[in-house]
Amino acid sequence: MRVSVFGATGSIGESTFDLLSRRDDIETVALTGGRNVARLAAQARGLRASVAVTAHEECYRALKEALAGSGIEAAAGTRALIEAAERPADWIMSAIVGAAGLAPGFRALAQGATLALANKESLVTAGPLLMREAARHNARILPVDSEHSAVFQALAGEDMAAVERVIITASGGPFRDWSLAQLEQATLAQAQTHPNWSMGQRITIDSATLFNKALELIETREYFGFAPDQIETVVHPQSIIHALVGFRDGALMAHLGPPDMRHAIGYALSWPVRANLPVARLDLAQLAQLSFEAPDPVRFPALRLAREVMEIRGHAGAVFNAAKEVALDEFIAGRLRFLDMARLVERTIDQLSSDSCLTDPVEALETVEAMDQMARERARALAAGLA
Ligand code: NDP
Repeated sequence: MRVSVFGATGSIGESTFDLLSRRDDIETVALTGGRNVARLAAQARGLRASVAVTAHEECYRALKEALAGSGIEAAAGTRALIEAAERPADWIMSAIVGAAGLAPGFRALAQGATLALANKESLVTAGPLLMREAARHNARILPVDSEHSAVFQALAGEDMAAVERVIITASGGPFRDWSLAQLEQATLAQAQTHPNWSMGQRITIDSATLFNKALELIETREYFGFAPDQIETVVHPQSIIHALVGFRDGALMAHLGPPDMRHAIGYALSWPVRANLPVARLDLAQLAQLSFEAPDPVRFPALRLAREVMEIRGHAGAVFNAAKEVALDEFIAGRLRFLDMARLVERTIDQLSSDSCLTDPVEALETVEAMDQMARERARALAAGLA
């Protein structure tokens, strides 16, 4: 099987690399990364990739030097990422972080490949476009988020008409029990420490605000086509149940597993076959207790905002995501406080909600990118007022 991995040097990328390294039936076409060129080159050598691509032109020289003598091609820049996505492959992992992951994944669909989709921002910003492109080219999108992989697995062989609701779980992040007053003071160091999962910095902070769960609600709507009122979320601090599907006969099918992304990645890699995966097996007696609580939309407004976005649809997802990315940049830079991130996203959506383009159907990548840019500019201007 020919595979390419976009975002190979990240958290999902490393887990994918781990699984690919264990197989002997893989031909690696392209691996891409950002600034971590030393790791990218080591991965490319390890998997004998045809090409390694850094997203940053200024990193080209370092990548070329790190690959010297290997026979592996080096490339750099946005255009090179797109070209890598166009190289024939059977299975392509989309694990770049942020809206930058959209275009390569979109291009990969045009060659009819299976797109293993970890990049949440793709479905949030351009869900209808991506699903249409996949159908047009007979390509398949397999979800790699643990929650969506869980829903996908619980739905296997079921009649979609018999589904009443979907429940995706949230760990609640490091601030699950914090009061609003405490949240006002939350620091970067506290926000980037997740109780259960080891992930990249940005998604870890998104888990603390519950923006990560907000993205997942929108993804659930876009990928499976459920109505917003069919999609629920519940806080489940142990992160053992990833999602549940409720059917019209009252049955709830739950998907359980240890918090290890290699399950969802491995499932997508071998689908429709279930492969033997190197993940821990659950000892239910030792776990003893699984608990659940309702999420608090006052302390975590991201969930309420996600519901607004699901109702508006159109380009609201692109605006929501772009404002969220700006808010995150500002928080990481120390210019916004923790709760100001949600305030900034809400104000950006409010300001752009009178814009007719917001509700226009998502029909072209260029329009999504234009909305993304417009929302980023607006969010940056608004952030200055909040700082
Ligand atoms: P990381 O931050 O760990 O890794 C991101 C990857 O993208 C790295 O390879 C990085 O390169 C590369 N990258 C960063 N910026 C750019 C850019 N502008 N252009 C091209 N490449 C870039 O992220 P994660 O692995 O945690 O997450 C990746 C995606 O998967 C996100 O969308 C996230 O929401 C989603 N996801 C993650 C999960 C997890 O458990 N981590 C679970 C489910 C979904 P470099 O590091 O070399 O600079």
